[in-house]
Amino acid sequence: MKKHKLFTILLLAVLLSSTFAKAQEVIKKNGYTLTYESNDANFDPQLKKRLIETFFKVYPVLAKEYNLKTLKEVKFAIDTAYKGVAATSNGRIVFSPEYMMKHPGDIDVVTHEAMHIVQDYGRSVGPGWLTEGIADYIRYKHGIDNAGANWALPDFKPTQNYKNSYRITARFFTWIDTKVKNGTIKAVDKSLRDHTYTPELWTKLTGKNLDELWTAYSENPSIS
Ligand SMILES: [Zn+2]
Repeated sequence: MKKHKLFTILLLAVLLSSTFAKAQEVIKKNGYTLTYESNDANFDPQLKKRLIETFFKVYPVLAKEYNLKTLKEVKFAIDTAYKGVAATSNGRIVFSPEYMMKHPGDIDVVTHEAMHIVQDYGRSVGPGWLTEGIADYIRYKHGIDNAGANWALPDFKPTQNYKNSYRITARFFTWIDTKVKNGTIKAVDKSLRDHTYTPELWTKLTGKNLDELWTAYSENPSIS
């Protein structure tokens, strides 16, 4: 009986994996290839279309601006078993269909995750908040419909710190680029990819270290 049960489980696994594979689609455009797969038969086709369109709109721009050597082939997986929002590893972005169906306007999740592919820091020599801050800074700068998702940079608050990551850090980075020195974040991104980043880079680029920059930011945090 035990053997029979094991066989049933194996058969089920094969069936499930072949269902996933069957739903694969390969889309090629301007030198980039996107493989799309989904194990959610109920996923909105319009949303699928928008996710794919966003990729082909944003990814070549990010590649050109930040890393021409970035992967030419990317994979999207709509996976009902995945319970986060979205995540990226080895050129594969997994999306939660539940999250995306509930937040269909949040299309620039693609922009944030695609930037992680472009970043390609490998085993990063920098902290995690820096990686995520840059990805959200990029979403702010290159996102195609942040307004439609009600996605904005949060106002500065004295309780914040640049290590808070994501949007809080992204706003700080936007301030650095607009009020201190344009191109700073691009240079930091490059140094993380080259594995030459050290915290001293901020001083080299702007004349101030991170804490000094944050103090100046907190005294006059306007980014407009
Ligand atoms: Zn991220």
